[in-house]
Amino acid sequence: MKLFLTFLLLALSSVAVAQAPLCKEIATELRELRPPLFAGRQRLFEYQQRAGIVYHGLADKIFNSYLARNTKPKDYIACFHLKNLSAQVERLETLLPGAFFYGTIRRLKLSSSATVRLFADDVEKALNSGSITFLDISVPSDSNNGTALKFGGFHRGQNGLYINPNQLPSDQWNLIFFHEFAHALDDSLRNAVEKEAKSPLMPYLERMAKKAVWDNADEEQVRAQILSSFDRGFAAEFRAWIVAASLYYQTEKLPSVEWFEQILQFSPRFEPATEKIVYLFLSPRFVTEPKGVFGDPRIFDIVTNIREGWDEVLPHMGPLKKYITYQN
Ligand SMILES: [Zn+2]
Repeated sequence: MKLFLTFLLLALSSVAVAQAPLCKEIATELRELRPPLFAGRQRLFEYQQRAGIVYHGLADKIFNSYLARNTKPKDYIACFHLKNLSAQVERLETLLPGAFFYGTIRRLKLSSSATVRLFADDVEKALNSGSITFLDISVPSDSNNGTALKFGGFHRGQNGLYINPNQLPSDQWNLIFFHEFAHALDDSLRNAVEKEAKSPLMPYLERMAKKAVWDNADEEQVRAQILSSFDRGFAAEFRAWIVAASLYYQTEKLPSVEWFEQILQFSPRFEPATEKIVYLFLSPRFVTEPKGVFGDPRIFDIVTNIREGWDEVLPHMGPLKKYITYQN
């Protein structure tokens, strides 16, 4: 017991030591940033400019420290609160999503892979144009319903995303970044979400299940609606993981992510066979049970038919295809 305690204490103190210097350094910089008293407009303006630069620099430091040493932003934030810097911390926190996301983009733009650079450019354009919303980098997880360990998420309705570095080990940051932003750049997903908003699937299927006889047009329409719902669900996940896998292989010096490589069965390179592996991994995790409206044999047949078709020809990548590069 004593041995264990000592070990635990050692482990804890090494964590504290690892981040203490940066916390102290940042705290000092924050404390030195006092607005001038009785200042004229010019000095106030200068102060605000200087403060902006300092705060952005500090947010970058927190990102770099996360990537290099897996230190959690929340540990810094807690440390600044302890040092009575709560007001400054609030401002610093608002800058973290930008520091984390644009910091990643800057790094990816240095890649020797044209595919990775293209992806980084597109993410940057989408963020700048506002077509992707930052939800946050650290949306507080709902610890009551078992999602506490959720690393990131994409909100389909808002086209917004978050990645939570307080939960996500930093060696997986890039992989999750690729996955979530692939969703955000996925036009097929976006179209399907808009379609669902205009004519929701379930009430439509309920109406069709009640209709005694379908003509060809009905069947076509049901098929189109179900396909579109897959574009929000299973097919969207498939595309986002394929993009993530392609970029994962293309990015140099990325730490290996054990669970992901296990899913990919340690494929030495990204090739069409890797796509099939991803498909076979995901497919049994997205099963439609013949219940409710799907208990209607006509509807269930269409679902089965679409799924069986993908066993032969994988779901389309849509415009995300440009981020796929096979290695030979
Ligand atoms: Zn996803």
